[in-house]
Amino acid sequence: MVDLQSQYDKIKSEIDASIQEVIDQSAFINGPQVRLFSEELREYLDVESVITCGNGTDGLQIAMMALDFKPGDELIVPAFTYIAAVEVIAVLGLVPVFVDVNPHTFLIDINKIEEKISHKTVAIIPVHLFGQCADMENLLRLADKHGLKIIEDAAQSIGSKYTFSDGRVAQSGTMGNIGVTSFFPSKNLGCFGDGGAMMTNKPELAERMRMIASHGQKRKYIHDAIGVNSRLDTLQAAILRVKLKYLNGYIQSRNQVAKKYDAAFKNHPNLQIPKRMNQSSHVFHQYTLILKDITRESFSKYLAEKGVPTMVYYPLPVHFQEAYRFLGYKKGDFPVAEVLCQEVISLPMHTEMEEEQQSYVIESINSFFE
Ligand SMILES: *Cc1c(COP(=O)(O)O)cnc(C)c1O
Repeated sequence: MVDLQSQYDKIKSEIDASIQEVIDQSAFINGPQVRLFSEELREYLDVESVITCGNGTDGLQIAMMALDFKPGDELIVPAFTYIAAVEVIAVLGLVPVFVDVNPHTFLIDINKIEEKISHKTVAIIPVHLFGQCADMENLLRLADKHGLKIIEDAAQSIGSKYTFSDGRVAQSGTMGNIGVTSFFPSKNLGCFGDGGAMMTNKPELAERMRMIASHGQKRKYIHDAIGVNSRLDTLQAAILRVKLKYLNGYIQSRNQVAKKYDAAFKNHPNLQIPKRMNQSSHVFHQYTLILKDITRESFSKYLAEKGVPTMVYYPLPVHFQEAYRFLGYKKGDFPVAEVLCQEVISLPMHTEMEEEQQSYVIESINSFFE
């Protein structure tokens, strides 16, 4: 599905030197590379502040803590997503309220949000799933109308750009009150372990998140808020400084792979290619097909036998998860998410895919239908 080894091999000398520098300095916690990386990412994203943290899930938690939501407050999240945002909402005693997604883009369905807004709703969490931005212009309009906050889950979409109708272009994760991303190794900007960051244009939120991420303290041993301990490792920051320089190139490679898949499958009767949003560029964290009139298991098994890996992101909608049964949702509540979970399949997608490798994947898929 991914080839992190070949990616590393190409930049090995730079990465190794960067790691060695940290070891030589022995500044393992909050070393200078952490500040330098945040500054470089801040410039890349053209945002006021980047605050690094231990992982993407922590980032979401710190964001919600900084926005000072109270137990019982409701946050709107897509029903078809990775679990992180839902989990953090529940951990903080807040209430996740699910909304169905668009069957073609996999992104939160803007037309189904308003009916879920109540007097308890405090925020919407668009997840820029698979690498393209949700409909931010309309989301921001809705949030404005109802006085809600927006936390963007940009864990899969770092580097994707959204164009507003007035022509303004913004990076994913920089449009809401707070954006959060992850540097998990397989993410588009991945490190060699765990890492994450929060982005904001609001100085007071930046200060609050920085404080919360550091035990709620601004000065050592003086705790002004309930905090957590969530830091980006200096070694990871050193690696990310190198990899950030290659991010645009990586995005280009992923788009080339996606284009070739698109061309191969666009008129296929059983395969529906992922739809691109007009307003957002796509960074293809995943290339996800929808299977029509074939069983996914036989398809994936056939490909596995040919040595082609596939993955299902995600096999179960959040309202069907055992852990969230207590919320009281039932089958049929989010029909699009329920069907997608049965029909989606993601193909190998990474920055080091050779023409030949991809041709083999495509040929293998085509041969399934022969
Ligand atoms: C990976 C991911 C996260 C969580 O990131 P971690 O760094 O693994 O905690 C959150 N949301 C989405 C959509 C993700 O894909």
